Amino acid sequence: ATPAATMVGTTIGAQNGVLFKGGDVLERAKDVDTVVFDKTGTLTRGEMELTDVVAFENGRPAADGGATAADGGQLAAPERHSEADVLRLAATAERGSEHPLARAIVEGARARDIEMGDPESFENVPGQGVRATVDGDDVLIGNRKLLADAGIDPSPVAETMERLEREGKTAMLVGRVPAGTEGVPAGTTGGELVGVVANADTVKPSAKEAVSALQARGVDVMMITGDNERTARAVAERVGISPSNVRAEVLPEDKSDAVEAIQNDGRKAMMVGDGVNDAPALAVAYVGCAIGSGTDVAIEAGDVTLMRDDPLDVVKAIRVSDATLAKIK
Ligand code: ADP
Ligand code: MG
Repeated sequence: ATPAATMVGTTIGAQNGVLFKGGDVLERAKDVDTVVFDKTGTLTRGEMELTDVVAFENGRPAADGGATAADGGQLAAPERHSEADVLRLAATAERGSEHPLARAIVEGARARDIEMGDPESFENVPGQGVRATVDGDDVLIGNRKLLADAGIDPSPVAETMERLEREGKTAMLVGRVPAGTEGVPAGTTGGELVGVVANADTVKPSAKEAVSALQARGVDVMMITGDNERTARAVAERVGISPSNVRAEVLPEDKSDAVEAIQNDGRKAMMVGDGVNDAPALAVAYVGCAIGSGTDVAIEAGDVTLMRDDPLDVVKAIRVSDATLAKIK
C-alpha cells in the first residue's frame, strides 16, 4: 500500500478502536484464513464468579456424609471439612495470585464472610494453579495435573468435576498435604483431597456474532485455552466454534507451538488474546491481535490492539485491511 493508503487505513482503524502497529500488518490482516481465539478474557468476559464449593471427606462429597461405619468405611478420624473450610483454604492460598480464577475465589470468600489469613508462602504454577503454605500445611488449588503431581489422586471427585465442567464452569481441586509429609515418594504422600470449587464466566454478548461473521467470510475459527476440554467445548458450543477446532489444556508455554502447528499447514492465522500467557502466541501468529483491556505484555507482543473489549472488532480489523488495500489497487 502507498503511505497515503496506509495512513487512511490506520486512521479509519483507530477511529473504530482498532490500532494497527504499522503498514505491514494492515496489509496482512485481509489474508488471514484462520482466527484463533483465546477463551478466557477474549471470548468470555474473564470476570469469573465463584459459583460452587463442594467439600469432600474420604473421597466423597461431604453432603453424602462421607464414609460411614455402616458401609464398612473405616472412620479413621476423617478431617471433617465443611464448605467454609474448603473455601477458607482455597481463598487463603489464592490471595497472592492475580489470576482471574484466584480473584473470583477470594471475592467469593469475602462475599460469604469467610475469614482469610495470609499464606505463609505462595507459588504460582502457570497453567495449573497455585501452591501455598497455610497453617503450616501445603495447600494446592488447581487442575487435576497439579494435584496428581503432588501425589493426590483426583479420581474420587471425577464425577463432581465433570458435572461442573459440562455446565461450562472451571472446576478446581483443593488438596492439602499436611506439614511434615514432604519427602514421601509421589503417589504416596499423606495428601488429601478436601474439595472442589468452581467459577463461572460469561460469554461476551457479541462473541457468537463475531464467530459467525468470520465463518461467513470463509475464515476457519478456532479456540485455544489452558482450561479443560469439557469446559472449553461447552463454551465453544455457545459461540458456534466446532468441537474439532478446540485446543484445550494447552499449557501457557505451548500456546505459541499450537499456533505454529496450525500455521505449518500453510495457514495464515490471526491469534486473538489478552493474557501474559498469550504473548508468545501473539508474536508467532501471522497477525497477533491483543485485547486492549488485557495485559501490557500481550499488547506489546501483538501487531493490532483492539481498544474495546468487543470480539466483533476482530472482523472490523480484517475489513479495514480489505478496504484499505482495495482502494489502492
Ligand atoms: P486460560 O488459558 O483459560 O487463561 P490458564 O492457562 O491460566 O487458563 O490456566 C489453565 C488452568 O489451570 C485453569 O483452567 C485452572 O484449572 C488452572 N489454574 C490456573 N491458575 C489457577 C489459579 N490461580 N487457581 C486455580 N487454578 C488455576
Ligand atoms: Mg485469557
